Amino acid sequence: MRLILLGPPGAGKGTQALRLVQRYGIVQLSTGDMLRAAVKAETPIGLKAKDIMASGALVPDDVVVGIISDRLDQPDAANGFILDGFPRTVPQAEALDLLLKAKQVKLDAVIELRVNEGALLARVETRVAEMQARGEAVRADDTPEVLSKRLASYRSQTEPLIHYYSEQRKLLTVDGMMTIEEVTKEIDRVLAAIRSADAKKTVAKAAAAKSARRASKAVGKGRKASSSKASGKATESAAKPAAKKAAKVTKKAAAKKAAKVTKKAAKSKAPKKVAKQTTKAAAKSTAAKAKKPASKAKKPAAKAKKPASKPGKAAKVAKATSRKAAGKTAKKVTKRRAKV
Ligand code: AMP
Repeated sequence: MRLILLGPPGAGKGTQALRLVQRYGIVQLSTGDMLRAAVKAETPIGLKAKDIMASGALVPDDVVVGIISDRLDQPDAANGFILDGFPRTVPQAEALDLLLKAKQVKLDAVIELRVNEGALLARVETRVAEMQARGEAVRADDTPEVLSKRLASYRSQTEPLIHYYSEQRKLLTVDGMMTIEEVTKEIDRVLAAIRSADAKKTVAKAAAAKSARRASKAVGKGRKASSSKASGKATESAAKPAAKKAAKVTKKAAAKKAAKVTKKAAKSKAPKKVAKQTTKAAAKSTAAKAKKPASKAKKPAAKAKKPASKPGKAAKVAKATSRKAAGKTAKKVTKRRAKV
């Protein structure tokens, strides 16, 4: 989980962050705590930040962005983190976006603790009184006067982040005026909701990827099928002209044979009847033969069959021709016989 806790000073960000650390096993990254540690250790950053913090103003953006960038690189942040008190300005938020992008890390949610300012002042007063009663040191900026100033800088510089993260659809608003327990429960509830939404997204993504894989497989199969279908068509269309050709050849052959036989019959000067019979037989056998190649070409059989009936026509012509020829021959024979 990578979270940001957003809310005015005294809204309870620190308290809720500690609970989230225990619940999710992630680290709390509080720029306020880091700056206080730097002030205590009197580091160059601490010396620079000390007076600014005491006045209730904000430390320069580049300083806090530098601190956070280094902290995010620590191994304990790899498992997840809660940013508490950072970002506090839009430029800080933009710098954080770039940092996370560069580190290839995704922010899960921004939890805004919404509180009313009047109640915050009352809370701070109670807390200061309790700390003093326990004999604890009170923070320099934890006074009603400094709090008013911090609230003013929250309104002007930090509140625009509500819009910034709601635009990014990362904002989850929780009523910070409830008891600490109730706020914790509500944070748990909203985080559970985004976790289950994320899980659903992951499942949906996996399902989409699976169906995309299936679809691409199906397209591949379809291509194969259509290419084989196309080759089937090609065979069919190739068979058509072949059958036509076969029919043509058959037609020609039948006519030729019939004409030859008729010629022969005429030449042989056979009697009319014989010539007629021979012509008939020749036409028949030619037509029968013509039928054969048609049956060989299976599909275009209908087309191939047609020419088979045409040799019949040819046979008729041949028959008529042979009749004439036979008639002439018979006449000649009769004439000769008469002469004899
Ligand atoms: P906090 O404990 O978060 O309320 O921070 C205490 C003080 O540290 C603030 O009043 C600021 O002066 C300073 N500080 C903490 N975080 C930031 C930040 N992100 N940007 C600028 N100043 C900060």
